[in-house]
Amino acid sequence: MLKIKKKLAILGSTGSIGKQALSIIKTKPDLFSVFLLSCNSNYMLILEQANQFSPKHVVVNTMEGYRFLKKELPGSIRVSFGLDSLCDLLKDGDINLVLSAIMGSAGLMPTVAAILGKKNIAIANKESLVVAGELIMGLAKKHNVSILPVDSEHSAIFQCLVGEKHDKINRLILTASGGPFLKKPKHKFKDITVKEALKHPNWSMGNKITIDSATLMNKGFELIEAFWLFGLSEKKIDIIIHPESIIHSLVEFVDGSVKAQLGVPDMTIPILYALGFPSRINYPFKPLNLVDCNRLNFSKPDKKKFPHLQLAYNCLEKGRGATCVLNAANEVAVDAFLKQNISFLNMFNLIEMSLEKSIFVNNPKLEDYLYLDSETRKITSELISKL
Ligand code: NAD
Ligand code: MG
Repeated sequence: MLKIKKKLAILGSTGSIGKQALSIIKTKPDLFSVFLLSCNSNYMLILEQANQFSPKHVVVNTMEGYRFLKKELPGSIRVSFGLDSLCDLLKDGDINLVLSAIMGSAGLMPTVAAILGKKNIAIANKESLVVAGELIMGLAKKHNVSILPVDSEHSAIFQCLVGEKHDKINRLILTASGGPFLKKPKHKFKDITVKEALKHPNWSMGNKITIDSATLMNKGFELIEAFWLFGLSEKKIDIIIHPESIIHSLVEFVDGSVKAQLGVPDMTIPILYALGFPSRINYPFKPLNLVDCNRLNFSKPDKKKFPHLQLAYNCLEKGRGATCVLNAANEVAVDAFLKQNISFLNMFNLIEMSLEKSIFVNNPKLEDYLYLDSETRKITSELISKL
């Protein structure tokens, strides 16, 4: 049983993770109350959510949304506009746990603000760890803040590590579904449409991460995320393709014992674990039926076919803000692909070219990451305009 009712801030409440979290929270009023909801531009949905959950604060990123919500929401719910207001509330608000579920590097500053405000964080926003993992983990340590994984693979590893000592870990094994194009020959990649790329075989997620899963950039990001969350060299983190997404990841220990966490592919499970931690929450679930699964398959990832994966290893090794550059170039490329301005294959070249053109910084600080992020966005956008 949880001892206190947790007061939550849900960043990105209108997204895939945010909505799934709220559907859990709705059924557990004895465990959770909502202090803050935030979104980018979907003010109609956040209006509905605010009326249902009565948070103290709603933060929206567009002026149009701000004006609309000011008019429509009762006076008991304070409406604020933009990133600075969000960061102030995260620093000073009466919050026990922040669910960081904003998409992209836009999640970095709120994540940092929450840490400075000594708030524990359930982190779905993997991009903030890709951009500035060293900074985030350093600040979290300094301010005694827990960073709890929400990503299913990292939640699996986190669960496998309960009761274990760090120096007894031999290897982490991240599983990857392989995405919709696992079996598609590379010469057919040039014809891939946005609609095809958005059809993930196992998971229903926001558009950006679904494209990242199709290119395997997502798995590259998860490698970087695991590196920072669990403090192990990239040489001790392996990736294997497991198309059924039943084993969410594994940990091998120094005595050859391997622990894994399994479950149906449903983000409700890792979200529940992060929200409830250190307790498990009773919740109605779809049971895993191993007999129905019949066969579980495993293979090595093809880094030639999916070069983003190798780029992630390279950038991690390079340091000096390279993973920040990788993320920014990818965000611009994915956005352009979703808008049908570039082809699926263009995404691969653009990131490599952006990395070649970028500058890098020794021992980057927060302002360096912000600078690298915005400079890379310019570089990649310019490359796109010349295609
Ligand atoms: P989504 O696109 O469905 O939702 C993103 C949310 O972030 C929305 O509420 C949106 O309003 C908000 N947002 C976007 N840009 C913003 C900005 N500039 N400022 C403030 N808010 C902004 O995305 P999602 O699929 O829910 O993913 C969210 C995060 O969780 C991502 O980092 C993703 O990698 C991670 N994640 C998602 C899943 C999943 O199943 N969806 C699984 C693992 C990890
Ligand atoms: Mg994942």
